[in-house]
Amino acid sequence: MLLKNLTSPTFLLNSPLFLSILSHNFIALHKVPGTFLESWGVRMNVVYSDLSGKNILITGASRGLGRRMAEVIARQGAHVIFNYRGDETKAMELKEELIKLGASQVTALNFDVTDTAKVKTELEAFVEKHGAITGLVNNAGISRDALLLRSKEEDIDATLNTNLKSAMMITQILTKSMMKAENVSIVNISSVVGLMGNAGQSAYAASKAGLIGYTKAVAKELASRNVRCNAICPGFIVTDMTDKLDDKTKEGYMASIPLKRLGASEEVANLVCFLLSKASGYITGETIKIDGGLYI
Ligand code: NDP
Repeated sequence: MLLKNLTSPTFLLNSPLFLSILSHNFIALHKVPGTFLESWGVRMNVVYSDLSGKNILITGASRGLGRRMAEVIARQGAHVIFNYRGDETKAMELKEELIKLGASQVTALNFDVTDTAKVKTELEAFVEKHGAITGLVNNAGISRDALLLRSKEEDIDATLNTNLKSAMMITQILTKSMMKAENVSIVNISSVVGLMGNAGQSAYAASKAGLIGYTKAVAKELASRNVRCNAICPGFIVTDMTDKLDDKTKEGYMASIPLKRLGASEEVANLVCFLLSKASGYITGETIKIDGGLYI
């Protein structure tokens, strides 16, 4: 009897092990039909992040978080539009990879997000050919760290232009077509530093705090057109950006993260996927931290 209970579908599906496997692989498993699970006598809310039929643009997707987002979004069957500004060969390799992962289509757009004229030309040409962008991830970002006293004006300008102004201009360029489309979702990649500040990162903090205010304003302006806009605030995630930090700074962060580990880019990508999907359809104007508890 015990053995029968232990191997019954209901027990297995509710067991911590299975739920743990499910939560780590929900991107792959979410497509299991609810009716199939229900036929096993199980009632559960399957995380749903199907992005098929959507045109999703990710800025700064050549590496780091942006690249991982492109990969996870590709697995959900979207038309992935990834932006890069550098190496053409690497971009074409990424294109191949995203198709293999399951993207319905892949378009690579080469522009620097701060070059508004080029961005406008590229995005308007895309919309003309393929229709509205229905998911936008404003991800491209830089950090040029220095105490305010020593910060150079050109670095402050570059940080604000790349991290904040470009997101506003890209959204503005796409707004008209988004307003005519259905289920549009914008996700802005802010940072916990935008919430809590950080010595040596005044320009970065200002740019990321600015993104949060901009997110709320856009959410209010476009809600009547069913365009949602949310921001996420990652903490310390392993990418090139955080690799640059010295060991002492990393140890300092680790000590103040309750979950006692750095975040994985896949975890951030999963949250972005959720916010782009219909599963988050009643969430707008929100700022969601993903930081292992760093800023509770
Ligand atoms: P990386 O430095 O690893 O990657 C940054 C990406 O942005 C690269 O693809 C880069 O392209 C692109 N990029 C930078 N400037 C431009 C530009 N002017 N035009 C087009 N693309 C550009 O950073 P992460 O992946 O770590 O960060 C991604 C986002 O997440 C950023 O907005 C960052 O602020 C935010 N974030 C990251 C955290 C982390 O712990 N990693 C924590 C909190 C927020 P290229 O290859 O050409 O340089």
